[in-house]
Amino acid sequence: MNAQTPVIELKDVSKIYSLPFGDVTALNHVSLEVMPGDFLAIMGPSGSGKSTMLNLIGSLDVPTDGDLFIDGTNIKNLTDEELTSLRRDNIGFIFQQFNLLPLLTVKENVEYPYILKYRHGDYEGRCEKLLERVGLTDHLMHHKPTELSGGQQQRVAIARALINNPKIMLCDEPTGNLDSKTGSQVMDLLAELNRQGKTVIMVTHDADIAEYANKKIVITDGEIK
Ligand code: ADP
Ligand code: MG
Repeated sequence: MNAQTPVIELKDVSKIYSLPFGDVTALNHVSLEVMPGDFLAIMGPSGSGKSTMLNLIGSLDVPTDGDLFIDGTNIKNLTDEELTSLRRDNIGFIFQQFNLLPLLTVKENVEYPYILKYRHGDYEGRCEKLLERVGLTDHLMHHKPTELSGGQQQRVAIARALINNPKIMLCDEPTGNLDSKTGSQVMDLLAELNRQGKTVIMVTHDADIAEYANKKIVITDGEIK
């Protein structure tokens, strides 16, 4: 028996979106265990339910049916406040479009989740250290995101995802907006973070990018094949 607790566990999870013209079943009774230190690639065609699964894992949305455990806690038993706190403690997000706030500087973007969590400014030096960890020099700190290249913006997004030291990094098509060379460099960074102990769960439809993972699942029509 494996004594380790999965960092993420889905038990018979379904997600149905109710729309005016009818229901869309985005996930249909899926079960999955992600263990500490895994690097999981979630593959599948467009519209198959990959982002839905990632959003549920990241508790940006909740299942219609079934059970989802984050770090051993069934999210069904939590208040909204507790769920937000569980998410902030455990999960960092990285998106295809980087999702940096355009009016904030790089430093402000990176520090933002820290301020949301702790409500105070005891973050001196953290941004500099994180920028170094993701391969950027700290002279970029006072620039706005649009002054940076796509690869640099994604590195800033990764620094932001790391600021509260989450166990899990969720990445939705992290290289989808990058050329292949820059994409490989960003993947090397995610692989390095995985070696340092982060659990990485990544959505991609690119088979070469999925090679960075040690586990793969394929979702088709809301089901794991
Ligand atoms: P993928 O990321 O694999 O492209 P998604 O998870 O985005 O797939 O979408 C799965 C299905 O759920 C699609 O049919 C999509 O149109 C639908 N869907 C996704 N998000 C929503 C939403 N917020 N409201 C309604 N339908 C949605
Ligand atoms: Mg998607």
